[in-house]
Amino acid sequence: MISLQSIKKECQRTQALEQHRDKQARLVASLLASSPPEVEDDRARREAQIVVTLLRAAREWGHRGVECSNCRLISPPDLEFCLYCDNEEQVSLITYSTDLERTLSHRLRNSAAPDQSIRRVKRLLVDPLLLYSDESSSEKKES
Ligand SMILES: [Zn+2]
Repeated sequence: MISLQSIKKECQRTQALEQHRDKQARLVASLLASSPPEVEDDRARREAQIVVTLLRAAREWGHRGVECSNCRLISPPDLEFCLYCDNEEQVSLITYSTDLERTLSHRLRNSAAPDQSIRRVKRLLVDPLLLYSDESSSEKKES
């Protein structure tokens, strides 16, 4: 039997999903103008994409973030859906240890995340390397 509660919950989810799609579409449009940095290797690129989201979590999101089970990238902790791919399943909030940034390379060297990520999501909708590019290059080259 369907309870009123579950209908209400489903409505809220649909609403949240619509807002999310909206936001993602705007993001995709705004990033369309810029071209992603050149990385030859697909795995290296995906690893860099994962790293940049983990660094955000470490530096700006209070060592928290929501991990997507699909693309394995980390979205801001207040999001209900993945920012980068079209995974519309709810994501899980993760709290990282405070040494996340220091242990990052070790963490990834032993991780299958980049491979899984590529296997499941060939191409991300939103490229975090573009989205967070202001981070690494605050002085953008004028060329
Ligand atoms: Zn995702």
